[in-house]
Amino acid sequence: MAPVLDRRTLLAGLGLGGVAWVLFRPAAGDAAPAFAVTHTQDQWRKLLGPARYHILREAGTERAYTSPLNSEHRRGTFFCAGCALLLFSSTTKFDSGTGWPSFFKPLPNAVVTRSDRSLLMERTGVLCRRCGGHLGHVFDDGPKPTGLRYCMNGLALKFQPA
Ligand SMILES: [Zn+2]
Repeated sequence: MAPVLDRRTLLAGLGLGGVAWVLFRPAAGDAAPAFAVTHTQDQWRKLLGPARYHILREAGTERAYTSPLNSEHRRGTFFCAGCALLLFSSTTKFDSGTGWPSFFKPLPNAVVTRSDRSLLMERTGVLCRRCGGHLGHVFDDGPKPTGLRYCMNGLALKFQPA
């Protein structure tokens, strides 16, 4: 004779299933944001070359003190190496002593941020708002007026003198 599953047990089981679904379903915020500029991985690789591809599309980090943009002190604008969106004004650049180009504020509507738990650290990743390219991270130990330090990979940026 088949075991009898009474109605109460059945409902309890369904209830637990429901709780599990609520706990473990992907959060809405985890969905990949839609970016205006998109390419396939192969297209990005061709467009960017291997070094820039690694930073922008694989969230890599260049070695400190390797970017010529560290010592770029002219007036002008830093733009995305992936899609040319203007990202930072030279007026917000400062010498952080970290070996990466650093800014205290991005241009309006230039970047988006997302939580980054790689390398066993809780960090905030900074992405280009238009192509989703990984630019670097933002920390809260920057100078006035924002107190923020946008620590950028020079390879993610290009510079246009004013
Ligand atoms: Zn971009």
